[in-house]
Amino acid sequence: MDKVVTSSNVFQTNKDRAAPLLEKLKADGIGHLIGGKLVPSISGATFETKSPVDGAVLASVARGNAQDVDRAATAASQAFKAWRAMSATMRKKLLHRVADAIEDRADDIAVLECIDTGQAYRFMAKAAIRAAENFRFFADKCADARDGFNMPGDEHWNVSTRVPIGPVGVITPWNTPFMLSTWKIAPALAAGCTVVHKPAEWSPVTADLLSRLVKEAGVPDGVLNTVHGFGEEAGKALTEHPAIKAIGFVGESATGSAIMAQGAPTLKRVHFELGGKNPVIVFDDADLDRALDAVVFMIYSLNGERCTSSSRLLVQRGIAERFIEKLTARVKALKVGHPLDPATEIGPLIHERHLEKVCSYFDIAREDGAIIAVGGKPHDGPGRGHYVAPTLVTGAQADMRVAQEEVFGPFLTVITFRDEDEAVGIANAVQYGLAGYVWTSDMGRALRVADALEAGMIWLNSENVRHLPTPFGGMKSSGIGRDGGDYSFDFYMETKHVSLARGTHRIQRLGI
Ligand code: NAD
Repeated sequence: MDKVVTSSNVFQTNKDRAAPLLEKLKADGIGHLIGGKLVPSISGATFETKSPVDGAVLASVARGNAQDVDRAATAASQAFKAWRAMSATMRKKLLHRVADAIEDRADDIAVLECIDTGQAYRFMAKAAIRAAENFRFFADKCADARDGFNMPGDEHWNVSTRVPIGPVGVITPWNTPFMLSTWKIAPALAAGCTVVHKPAEWSPVTADLLSRLVKEAGVPDGVLNTVHGFGEEAGKALTEHPAIKAIGFVGESATGSAIMAQGAPTLKRVHFELGGKNPVIVFDDADLDRALDAVVFMIYSLNGERCTSSSRLLVQRGIAERFIEKLTARVKALKVGHPLDPATEIGPLIHERHLEKVCSYFDIAREDGAIIAVGGKPHDGPGRGHYVAPTLVTGAQADMRVAQEEVFGPFLTVITFRDEDEAVGIANAVQYGLAGYVWTSDMGRALRVADALEAGMIWLNSENVRHLPTPFGGMKSSGIGRDGGDYSFDFYMETKHVSLARGTHRIQRLGI
């Protein structure tokens, strides 16, 4: 008889899968991938990475500095010529092989990501699959990457083409780190760039696995290099290295500013995906059941450690009381638990310092005069890790810190509004401009608000559903540039104009 799949036996299967992987990780440690070899730091320095679930040391990680970055940038420079010259068909084949390798190890990636970051299995199970899709999508675009325009003139035939910019640096954060790093690395490789990746120091585990999978898939040595370490050390050195032509960065807005300054002497091209304080606006004519599902999902999934989370709920006054009542019941019922348990909706936060930051907003909310309707305290979860109770703050005003600052946890701030103008005014009155969500059955209003919102991405009557060809990125302090589809190639490639004379035009004759 078939075994019945229950939440408890999936939890046990996940634990059984994780145990030998963690044992091996601890024994092997995590090294840099440089020029196709897994190596320790030149200095021999290491740091420990710990699980947010129970504080267990997961691995000793090579701590890179400027010397290691120099070695990786040199390897990326040496590999660039051949990778750039490789036929698009061959590059496509190799990137599909990486996608195959990710799919084969999707379950391993999922459980390791849960243990290393505290993210719940229900979301991480899909993150690895999405990472493979990122590689497949850009693999299929390899052949189009160099496409340009044909612009005939009176006397010249003009065409444009694109060429890869050179070795690039990719610096990534700790939230959904595996999926997110493939989102930057896959288009860079498809464009013909070589890469030095600096993963976040709080989540190095799956970046190590990605390095190994890319190598095993047969991608030539030096095409992807990974240097682990701290932002102010390895990250800074990467942004300053003269051989690195561009930096694709995902992280905090303040770090983006620092990187821009660090990269200025070498005129780095930069692409920034930064913080957000995204509004979800619910009008009184919306489908309130669907809106409620989306509101809860977009702030309490992924522990609220999500750049596109809808961390500000703007709800129209006439429906506010009823909507907040239902919302309160849902937030109270959220399941906080072990990240490997498929029933868990919220796992422990990434790090004790991040837990402290999120918890500091409980007092800030109270001092500002807002009401903590649900949560507002740490949570005693399995393993005694960095758990926090999902939190709902009501009665907030638009200028309060809880309505202005990115908390980056399961923390939702509710503000009420009178009409469309006021909603747009409140939505735009923050330094950020990443995403916006609008719920209404009036399509004219949906389009007016979409047009007026200062944000790079707007979803109407929807939660965030990513479609890979569309532009992803933010305005204001939320970023510079767009990812996705051809937009990614605009960043990782130089546009070149080639003009061929028909041989008929008059050339001015000097010195005769
Ligand atoms: P962070 O800025 O602290 O760190 C991100 C990366 O930058 C890490 O690898 C870190 O080591 C490195 N770094 C730090 N200082 C550096 C320096 N001076 N030079 C070079 N590199 C440096 O961000 P985080 O706390 O890891 O991630 C959370 C942030 O990321 C949130 O603000 C979130 O909104 C943002 N984020 C944005 C998007 C988006 O698409 N807009 C997506 C995910 C996360």
